[in-house]
Formats: sequence, structure tokens, C-alpha cells
Amino acid sequence: MQQTSKRTERMPVAFFGHGSPTNVLEDNEATRTWALMAKRIGRPKAILCISAHWCTRGVHVTAMPSPQTIHDFGPSLPAPLFSQQYPAPGSRALAERVQTLIAPTPVTLDESWGLDHGTWSVLQKAYPDADIPVVQLSMDVTKDEAWHYELATRLRPLRHEGVLIVGSGNIVHNLRVLKWADDVQPYPWATRFNDYVKQQIRTGNHTALFNVHEQGEDARLSVPSEDHYWPLLYALGCIEPEDRVTFLSDYITFASLGMTSLLIENSAVAE
Ligand code: ZN
Repeated sequence: MQQTSKRTERMPVAFFGHGSPTNVLEDNEATRTWALMAKRIGRPKAILCISAHWCTRGVHVTAMPSPQTIHDFGPSLPAPLFSQQYPAPGSRALAERVQTLIAPTPVTLDESWGLDHGTWSVLQKAYPDADIPVVQLSMDVTKDEAWHYELATRLRPLRHEGVLIVGSGNIVHNLRVLKWADDVQPYPWATRFNDYVKQQIRTGNHTALFNVHEQGEDARLSVPSEDHYWPLLYALGCIEPEDRVTFLSDYITFASLGMTSLLIENSAVAE
């Protein structure tokens, strides 16, 4: 009982390495991990997701009652992906709470986006009933890593209000050099960068993860654009004292797509 009440006081935070949208059609190590993470987290009152696939000028937060499922990928992907629906309700109350927490930085209440595949492809596996309200927060493309991280720290109170904060992206994400085959070895630079990032997280050295494009060749190849990297910084920005970080489904697929996920939870209640 005590464990349950403590956990309720501070929700965990999740970073899902989402990879290809086709994962939603599969049963693999990553998708099984997402389901296990949700079991461990339990049922939140609502979910706030920062997806790699919603980059905007300025900050926006979805505020519609019924966000649409957005099929934001190319037509060459399998047809069943285009019929996927994740009909979770939205939450204007949570959107307005986010707006308040992030102030004085302006946040626009959005009525036109919805849930992109960075959100629904993982939540379909984690919370398949789609009955928990989901709100998306966009990432301002004009800002740098330090700014995104600082903004995320303002979201911490949500953990104490039963809200699950989710970052959905990939630590290593280079589609240009992807080897589209099973059982290919990761590029050495991909493994090195993934290990480097994990080491900085283990030691709490989050600022080392800022200015990613000034960090040499491994970083440049692993993060050719920041959209999939930034959601990690949102998850890390929500860490509080005594939190423990666990790395899950920690592998690199198609040679340059890191599937590492993170579960951040209060070590006082972690086994
Ligand atoms: Zn993606």
C-alpha cells in the first residue's frame, strides 16, 4: 500500500525509442518493452507526449477534445499502417495546465494537430485501450538543447498530479545510412554515441548532452537532425532527486536506428 501511495505522489517518466512506424504492426523486443514499461508505470490520469514528429515555431499544445490520429509517413509504408487509429481523448484542462507551467514562455492551444505516429505508435502498445487522455506538446525548432531541457524542468509538477510525461524519439536516428535488413551490425559510431549518451545520463551529466552538433563525428552521424534527439532532453529535464534511470530495449536496429528506451522512476519505490 505504501509503495502504491508513494508512486502516486510522483509518476515515472518514460522515453520511448520509437524507431520505424512499422513497429506498431509487429511484436518485437521494443514493442514488448513498451508494454512492460506501461505495466510497471500503471495507469496515469493523463499522458503528455513530446514527439519527435511535432516541431513548430513557438510552442504549441494540443487542446482538442478528440485528437485525430495522424498518419505522418510516406506512402511506401504498408497499407495497414494507414488504417491505424488511436482514439484517445484529449484534455483541454491538461493543455491549459501546461500553458500555465511553461509561462511566461507563450504556449499556443492547438486545435488542428492531433496524435502523430511518434505518439500513437508507442501508446498503441503501451496503453492499447486508448482510454487515457493524451496531449501533445510541440518542440520549438528555433531553440537549442539547453532551452528545451530548461523548458522540460517546468513540467515536473505534472508528475505529482498523476500525469505521465513521455518523450518519443530516438537517441541514434540516421535514416540516410540505414541498412534495411535484419541482423545487420550497428555502425561503430552509433554504438559509441549511444554508450556515450547513456554514460552521461548515468552520471547525471545532462549538460554534456547539450550542443550536440559540437560533439564530434559520432554525434553528427547519430543526430543528423535534432528532432528525434530532443524528446530525450524533455524526459531528462523531468528527473527529480532520487530518481533512478533504467535503460530498456537497448539495441540498435538497421545499423543506425537506436531503440533504447528509458524508464525514470523514484528509486524510493523501485525494487
Ligand atoms: Zn520517428
